[in-house]
Amino acid sequence: MGADCLFCKIIAGEIPATIKYEDSHLVVFDDIDPQAPYHFLIVPKKHIDTTLDLVAEDNELIGHVYQVAGKLALDMGFAEEGFRVINNCKEAGGQTVWHIHFHLLGGRDMNWPPG
Ligand code: AMP
Ligand code: ZN
Repeated sequence: MGADCLFCKIIAGEIPATIKYEDSHLVVFDDIDPQAPYHFLIVPKKHIDTTLDLVAEDNELIGHVYQVAGKLALDMGFAEEGFRVINNCKEAGGQTVWHIHFHLLGGRDMNWPPG
């Protein structure tokens, strides 16, 4: 657990969140400030600060993130139209919580380029 890490506290059940999916590697919950009709955060249970901190042993974990993203989009009914999976890395990338996570956004047309 990262010291004073918000997402580690959510994973530990110390801070409430609306959990949509959980397995031994990941937890998925509603973003508190949704930017689309569907906006979930896919969060590895392992504390990893940023994308730059991934190591080879995390490869399967990150593949699993994308498998779960697709399955959730199908289950929630927004897969057919399309959706977006986003990882923000460090300040210029827009990262505000330094525990690696993947935004799953769906239910509306997305803009390109992103802001
Ligand atoms: P990022 O800016 O990519 O680091 O994403 C962090 C996300 O966490 C933002 O979209 C926030 O709205 C979201 N967030 C912050 N605090 C909470 C919380 N307590 N529960 C759920 N989502 C949160
Ligand atoms: Zn953490």
